[in-house]
Amino acid sequence: MNGQEFIPKEISPGNFSEYDIKLNMGNDGKFQLESTVVVKNLSTDDWGQLTFYFIPNMFTKSVSPELEYPSTVDFHNISIDGKKAEYTLEEDTLNIQLMEKLKPNQEIKVYFSYELTLPEEGLRFTKSNVDNYHLAQFYPMLATYRNHQWNKEKYLFRGETYHNTYSNFKLTYDIPKEYTLVSSFDQEVYPSPNKGLLEVENVKEIFLAILKDPILVEKNGGTSIRVFGFEKHKEELYREIADEATTAFNYFEEIIGPYPFKQLDIIIDGLGMEYPGIVTAHTIYNSDPVNSEALKSMVVHEIAHQWFYGMIHNDPFYNAWLDEGFAVFATDLFSFKKLNLSKPYTKYSIDPNMVLPVNLPLDQYESKMSSYIYGKAPTMLWELFNKNEGLKEIEQFLKSYYQFYKYKEIDSTEFMRFAKYYFDLKDDSIFEGWLEIEKTQNE
Ligand SMILES: [Zn+2]
Repeated sequence: MNGQEFIPKEISPGNFSEYDIKLNMGNDGKFQLESTVVVKNLSTDDWGQLTFYFIPNMFTKSVSPELEYPSTVDFHNISIDGKKAEYTLEEDTLNIQLMEKLKPNQEIKVYFSYELTLPEEGLRFTKSNVDNYHLAQFYPMLATYRNHQWNKEKYLFRGETYHNTYSNFKLTYDIPKEYTLVSSFDQEVYPSPNKGLLEVENVKEIFLAILKDPILVEKNGGTSIRVFGFEKHKEELYREIADEATTAFNYFEEIIGPYPFKQLDIIIDGLGMEYPGIVTAHTIYNSDPVNSEALKSMVVHEIAHQWFYGMIHNDPFYNAWLDEGFAVFATDLFSFKKLNLSKPYTKYSIDPNMVLPVNLPLDQYESKMSSYIYGKAPTMLWELFNKNEGLKEIEQFLKSYYQFYKYKEIDSTEFMRFAKYYFDLKDDSIFEGWLEIEKTQNE
């Protein structure tokens, strides 16, 4: 680190939004929703339309005909400041025409009323384990706006192709009595009341799990860590997961920085995935549930995302390596710490055939996306350190990164600027072969 002052440059989301969602679940598994979003234009352009992601539409019969049990989606009304609005919905792109231009710093209120059912075998937004409802990205989510346009990419069934910024959320819910709600909100008790109002501020999205008869293992430190499992004979494993999660959580708080909520929920069901204040872990893409040791490691990885995604964030379509690479890096650091390895460098080598950079847009990788994002990216982060630095110095790097970038969006260009400052580098040679200078982001 050199002695000069460093000022981080965050990437502007181009807007700010606040969500007020009313959710009513019927006994038949049908959801009635009303969602109000106050949208503020923080760009320098006049807007003629708004662009939202609406991911439940990806699992309908018309978009995913191969699904045996698709989702259903029915919009009753979309209106703006009380007037019915024109819109188009194609795949997960919901465009709403504005009758009057929305000028910089102006705000408007968009109202959606709609109903939906969840698919089986969906992705994140899905029914699971017979009677669990995983509501990921179940509401229209405002896209970011940058470089004079809406930043909305095509949905892919691999990786995360949606990108939101921090927002405030209010949820009013009403669910059948035999279910319990476990979610991004951190004021929850178990079992949850079947009706309630919850609020959370400054999160990228909200995730709701509506669960039937879970087994709960809870650890109460400063933050309550709650593990929800579903197989009676695995209670011992759930206890071990709760212990491992608590140790990892405390380690990350100590070496990176504070976690912002009172609760962290871990659902042992569904695809390994991170959301603010809650994670799911059980399977990886197209596979059976992972074994116990891999499951614990998956839980630690998803917890690491509470910092890398939850607090320091990046567009996962353009810069997936930033949250995934750092989550893997932090998870490895945790395992080295457990093994008492003071200089953990030798584990790594780079496959000479992996010649692409790690920061290409997701649609430019063919079959090897995961090897780049989860393999080459953290390996190259280790390469930033010279082999004399011990665990303490490496931990310090994460702390500094967090202090500069918490609640900010970062991209590869900004990461390079930070790394050059931190390691006192004179040129870009250390990034050659793994980071490509971006063309479209960070204008
Ligand atoms: Zn991850």
